[in-house]
Amino acid sequence: MADLVRDLTATSGDTAAVIAPFTGELLHDLPLSSVEDVADATAAARVAQAAWWAAGDAHRRRVLLKAHDLLLDRREELLDAVQTETGKTRGQAFEEVFNAAAATRYNALSARRVLRGGRRRGGIPFVISTRVGFTPKGVVGVITPWNYPLSLALMDIAPALAAGNGVVQKADNQGAVSILSARRAFIDAGVPAALWAVVAGEGSVIGNAVVDAGDYVCFTGSTATGRIVAQRAAGRLVGSSMELGGKNPLIVLDDVDPVRAAADAAYACFSAAGQLCVSMERIYVLKGVADAFIPAFADRVKGLALGAAFDYSTDVGSLATAAQLEKVTAHIDDAVAKGATLLAGGKARPDLGPYFVEPTVFTDVTSDMRCAAEETFGPVVEVRVVDSEDAAIAAANASEYGLNASVLGRSRARARAVASRLRAGSVNVNEGYRATFGSVDAPMGGVMWSGIGRRNGPEGLLRFVETRTIAGATGLLQLPRTGAEFSKLVGPMLLLLRILKGLRRR
Ligand code: NAD
Repeated sequence: MADLVRDLTATSGDTAAVIAPFTGELLHDLPLSSVEDVADATAAARVAQAAWWAAGDAHRRRVLLKAHDLLLDRREELLDAVQTETGKTRGQAFEEVFNAAAATRYNALSARRVLRGGRRRGGIPFVISTRVGFTPKGVVGVITPWNYPLSLALMDIAPALAAGNGVVQKADNQGAVSILSARRAFIDAGVPAALWAVVAGEGSVIGNAVVDAGDYVCFTGSTATGRIVAQRAAGRLVGSSMELGGKNPLIVLDDVDPVRAAADAAYACFSAAGQLCVSMERIYVLKGVADAFIPAFADRVKGLALGAAFDYSTDVGSLATAAQLEKVTAHIDDAVAKGATLLAGGKARPDLGPYFVEPTVFTDVTSDMRCAAEETFGPVVEVRVVDSEDAAIAAANASEYGLNASVLGRSRARARAVASRLRAGSVNVNEGYRATFGSVDAPMGGVMWSGIGRRNGPEGLLRFVETRTIAGATGLLQLPRTGAEFSKLVGPMLLLLRILKGLRRR
């Protein structure tokens, strides 16, 4: 790890202490970047980007597919880095490596097809010929949080590189080594080091510098910071995508197998100890199944193996930082003090590690409690019984957020019908988040407070290019330039419009 941190572009001389969540011990003093480092990294990325774009899509595809293989070959090293920095379980770290590799493969193989460009219909058939092409934005500024350092980075960086861009990434201090470890795989596969620079430091200083330097900005983090970053990017008239917070609802329909639904719901809520933008914090269960589901869910949660282990022996890991512990315990204490009923968990577990908190299930949550509408971003979920499907949908949609949602039901057709009425960028059926999050060919993102723009799929690639239309006169007919010429052609042109509409020709 000490070796990897040298790959940061960071010459300020300042450092930040990074604590390992499993032990509470100092992991390393992370070198921090200066504003000049960001400017230098951007200038170097611009030079590297010109050559990367000129090398052509076959070259980019070959290099990125090689990077995919190296990510898989080096998975154990990556899993260790992710667990050490974030405190998540081996299984949830594996989801990250899987996702990072899938995003790399998808974009390597899709860029050529999605960004091929080509002919479009001319404004006047035969008289105008029109083509559309794409060129890279240039250097993309990417700002990532600590919770999913690998997958969130590569869901932006793999398409940015595949589309021919350079990248300057501001890593969160708590996830920098995982990112640098993945970046090494890309460099060893043939990505020039300067093409993807990583900087670290205070968000309001180094994050701002990245926003000020990029030709496009990808931000993943909280809604509060996203508002600042989006406005700053807009002030420079550069585009941005914002992947922000959520308060995600899960609906349990009354035709489920309650034990199976309990197991699915528990994973959906407590993966990465709830520190996952798409994990569930609100459960609405239909009254017909509530008496069977709620105890089965509480039992399942109480049975989850909580602990620090660099193997697959645990189900739930640690919170990542002292700040996370403080926020999560504040939400739990507030709910308990205001009369919520605790069905499972509710306690910090310093015997397991400094930041462990038990997966916690509440009922009787009222709107004055912090965990009712605010994103906890931790292992805390509310269960509420609802009278009908309509009531479940109304409760699920009663949020300022709209990132992810889930519906559990035996009848897939019924569950899909409910899913189609939920206000969220993604909805999973009989899964919590992996069905949509892992579908790299389908767009992912949020509505309302949960963000702007989409990653993954063709939409995720098209963020990173400028569209250029080139159209010209074929010479078959001279367009009018003088009053006399117009007076001759107005009649035929009106007729043409009517014919085009009559033929339903776009
Ligand atoms: P955060 O907003 O505090 O920080 C995210 C990143 O932004 C960090 O790298 C931080 O240093 C940087 N930053 C902070 N202030 C900045 C500024 N003024 N200008 C530029 N950059 C700045 O979020 P966090 O606590 O690290 O992450 C948790 C949040 O992220 C949760 O709300 C979670 O839901 C959200 N999240 C969303 C997604 C998604 O895909 N929608 C994914 C993961 C996390």
